[in-house]
Amino acid sequence: MKNILKVGKLKLWQKYCENQRTKHPLTYLFWECTLKCNLGCQHCGSSCGLENKSQEELSTDEIKNVFASIAKDFDPKQIIIAVTGGEPLLRKDLFEVMKYANELGFSWGMVTNGTLLSTKIVEKMKEAIMSTISISLDGLKKITIGLDVIRMASKILPME
Ligand code: SF4
Repeated sequence: MKNILKVGKLKLWQKYCENQRTKHPLTYLFWECTLKCNLGCQHCGSSCGLENKSQEELSTDEIKNVFASIAKDFDPKQIIIAVTGGEPLLRKDLFEVMKYANELGFSWGMVTNGTLLSTKIVEKMKEAIMSTISISLDGLKKITIGLDVIRMASKILPME
């Protein structure tokens, strides 16, 4: 009797998962690629900071495998990967991984604090076909930093 109940529960669970897949198609994936950040804001919701927490991160191969396996089960062309952190630009393999994701068919974008942007980084973004960027501007007091970031951002996504 117990076994019949178990099988029944398993079938119900499979049906539930199938329903979730068809009713809620996967369109957005968030990858929190690192907990390292060159800032260390008190309000940080992810407890990110300067301390090295790389042992808690997926390796290059692990995250590539995750993306490859998702690309097998879903249509990657319908999915955008939002890369967040910490500060994604502190992750050395970021562009290698995201170029690979793009080759699998995903489009992708990044949330960054903007402080590490440079012409070289912008070139890497272009090579890895990054399509969106979100930059946090926390206030008006350090407006010059904000303007530098906006200037750099306009090189990535030319404003019309
Ligand atoms: S810049 Fe963002 S990720 Fe970094 S510490 Fe501040 S809130 Fe956290």
